[in-house]
Formats: sequence, structure tokens, C-alpha cells
Amino acid sequence: MMGDGGSIFSARWVLVDAFHSRKDCAIHVQDGKIGEIAPLQDLTSRFPAAEVHIGENVAILPGFVNAHHHCFGVNLVNQGISDDLLEPWIFATAGAAAISTKTSTEYAALRLLKNGVTAVVDACTAGETARLAEMKVREKLEIYTGLGISCAVAPGERWQNRIVHQSGQDHAFLTKLPEPLRDKLEHQHLTRARLNPAEYLDLILRLAEEHAQAETSDVWFGPTAPHWTSPQLLKEIACAVRERGLRMQTHVEESLLQHLSAGRPDNKNPVAELADIGLLGEKLSLAHMVWADEYALREVADTGAHIVCNPSSNLRLRSGIAPAWKMKRLGINLALGMDGTSLAGDDDMFAEMRLARNLYGSADPLGPGLTAPDVFDMATMGGARLMGMDQSIGSLNDGKRANFIVVSLDRLQGPWLAESVDPVELLVSSAKTSDIQSVYVGGSLTVSQGKVCNRNEHDVLENINEEMQRAADQRLSTQDYAIVRSALLRWYDNWLTHSAQLR
Ligand SMILES: [Zn+2]
Repeated sequence: MMGDGGSIFSARWVLVDAFHSRKDCAIHVQDGKIGEIAPLQDLTSRFPAAEVHIGENVAILPGFVNAHHHCFGVNLVNQGISDDLLEPWIFATAGAAAISTKTSTEYAALRLLKNGVTAVVDACTAGETARLAEMKVREKLEIYTGLGISCAVAPGERWQNRIVHQSGQDHAFLTKLPEPLRDKLEHQHLTRARLNPAEYLDLILRLAEEHAQAETSDVWFGPTAPHWTSPQLLKEIACAVRERGLRMQTHVEESLLQHLSAGRPDNKNPVAELADIGLLGEKLSLAHMVWADEYALREVADTGAHIVCNPSSNLRLRSGIAPAWKMKRLGINLALGMDGTSLAGDDDMFAEMRLARNLYGSADPLGPGLTAPDVFDMATMGGARLMGMDQSIGSLNDGKRANFIVVSLDRLQGPWLAESVDPVELLVSSAKTSDIQSVYVGGSLTVSQGKVCNRNEHDVLENINEEMQRAADQRLSTQDYAIVRSALLRWYDNWLTHSAQLR
């Protein structure tokens, strides 16, 4: 615990935010908040009672914001679920052995925290009934806030078009499958119990109201995607967003097939639909937007809605590369998410920033691309703005919550490091989570040398093992998955040809 004079942390670099770094400086922390940043000697003479932490060769940076996440529990690859195109992949994951919300969220939260993530948007599935959904959301809020992680929990469901993208075509697709398989898919996707839209609306209104004054936790609408949600429910959500200032996050334009489905006569472009309903605005964040065209991006920019890019997930589910450079050029606030599907399945935000920088740069070889500060901003202030928490998190400005990461430079500096090196460039290019020495949340030491303080991680891992052994696995067999996969590809192939003829 800190003494009366607070604490002072010195570092070779203090990164106030993506665009402002201070060399050979120290930071004063008091009552869980960031204070002044000044040379170490100045601070020690002004705050003689402060506890002093000398960082010989470290950088101090703001805690990361993972602006779009799912707690899948055990990595899907470890469960034998391979990466695939998004559309068939959804059928591969259904029915997989599931661990409890408590265990999966604890596991995810500890892992994120060890990786320096101190704020998260958790886009979870709402669940079978309103009562279960409420328990789930409350459990998640308790786990995140208990660890000091700032959070928004955004539950959602797929209420319609659960098998194929086109409206009202689910049963037509199912007739293409052999009968036992048809029944299984019908059971897993169509008749599975889920809370109804009216219960959902009521639940989110109630929980969001409860958290209206909370500084570090929030409950949002999270309908999984516009095409999985009825226009009526979207209108009612729009009303709540407008009248009560609530927030919403949803998946939009993630895959090519989703994008092409919007061109069908009976389907709508999701961004235009959100705009028509009055949802497009600064309370809305759109996850992915890989296939959004210039017109849609302009609408997003004009209304102040946010976009969260998920580069790893988009590669693993063959969704493509988001036009992040265009989004940036249009002045859209961009954040970074790991979508529960980071490239190595380890939720490493340094790796995600590195991927974003290189991927989005090479997708536009002659353009400006995204710089290291751009992607660092996405992983910090961009996420904080998206969460509506930019007054309290996302940078190390005076008065903000003291959420920060201490990164060792020992490995990064190699045999020699130029004086002129920009620390943001160095960290985005080379840092790994194994370089994290410690993580502070609200001024308290929360992670030290890869271990979460005051938590027995071993218990969480044991719970996962026990729950996985007990859990029922109702997944499709490898053979059945292959049948569904090829039927889906045939289905969309026919439809794409037809769609081309119509145009
Ligand atoms: Zn997602």
C-alpha cells in the first residue's frame, strides 16, 4: 500500500499517450490517480513521504483497452476446433463443451490483466432466459471490477437468420442436408432457447440504469449483428440510446458473405439500416467493418460512431483486412480488439498492435498506412473514447485512474539502442507480454513478474480442467461438419451467381 505521500515511479520513458512521451522522468501517483509527471528529483523533493520505485531500465505506459472481446474459455484450437471461414466456423463451435461464465471470465480476465489490458468490452451471448442472462452479466461485472478492470458488458443474441444470411431462408437451406443432420442443426441453432427481445430490452435497460453512475463499469446493448436482430428491436434500442444515453456494440460487415448478403433485394445494408433507425452515432461502436465501403465509412465518420478493428480474428476466420487507413483518413475514432481470437490465442496486445500496424500498412502500400502511434492510440485512448471513459482511462494524464504497465527494456534494447529511438515505435515493433514487469490498476500493484497478486490462478486452471471433463460435447462430428461446410459453400455459390445476375 502507498504511504501518505503517494508513490513515485521513475522510468527511462513515461508514455503519457501515443503521441507524448517523456524521457528520464517519474510519475507521481496518489489515491489511485495519476498526478504530476516530472524529473525524479523534483518529485522526491516535493513529495518526501512518497514511496519511491526506481525503474532502472523500464518504460511506463497506459493500460491497454481491449475494445471487443469474447470469453471462449479454453482456446478453441485446444478443443479441436480449427480456424475456418466465419460462416461454417459458427457451426463448428456450436455445441462445444462449455465451462461456466465464472470460470471462463476469470480465466480471460486474469490473462488480459497479465498482458497489461486494464479495460475491456465483453461482447457475450445473453443466454437462454432473462434470469440466466442477468446472472451472467452480474457475474462478469463482479469479476472484472473485483480485479480493477474497467469494463462494459454487452450481451447479445442471434434472434433471426441463424443458419444462413438471407432473410427467411434457414429452412430452405436445411432441406439440403440429410435428415439427422438437419434435426441437429435445427435443434442447436433454431429451437435453442434464448431470451426474447422484450425480455432482453427490459434487462439491459435495468442493468444499464444501475450502472449509470459507475465510473469503471457499464452495461451496453450488444445485439450480435443487425442481420441477426429484428428491425423492431433495433428501433427500440435506438430509442433507449437516444433518450437514456445508453451505448451499443455490434458486429458489422465482418465477412465477405455478410457484405454480399446486404446487396440482396430483401436485405439491407447494415450501416444504412443503423443510420435509418437512428442508431448511428457516438454511442455506437461497430466491430470489424472489414467490408464497409467508402459511403458507409463516411456515414460512420459523419455521425461520430466508433470502429473497433480486430486484425487477428479477421485473419483467422478468413474475413479479410479492414480498410483501417481509410477509416483513419476519414477521422473515425478507431479502437483495437482481440475478439477472443488473437493470432496465437494468447491475448497479447503488443502482438495485436504489431499486426495492425503491418497489416493495415501493407494493405495500402503507397498510402500513409497506420503509424506505430496510430495503433498505440487505438489500443489505449481509441478504446477509452469508444467506452465513453476517456476522462478516466486510456492515458497517463493528471487525474486519471493510475492504470499503467511497467515494461522492461532489457531485451528490447539489444546490444545497442539509438538515442533518437521513439519509444512507441520500439514497443509496437518489438515488445512482447513477457517484457511486462508489472501492471498497476488504480495505483495498486496487480501483476508482478507474470503473476496476478492476491489471486490463486492455479484454482482457476483446475476449475477449467474439472469443468471441461464434466461438460457435454454436442459438436458436429468431423464428417457432419464437412457435409455442412460444403452445403454452405454450394448454397452461397448459387446465391452469389443469382445475385450477380440480378445486378
Ligand atoms: Zn466478436
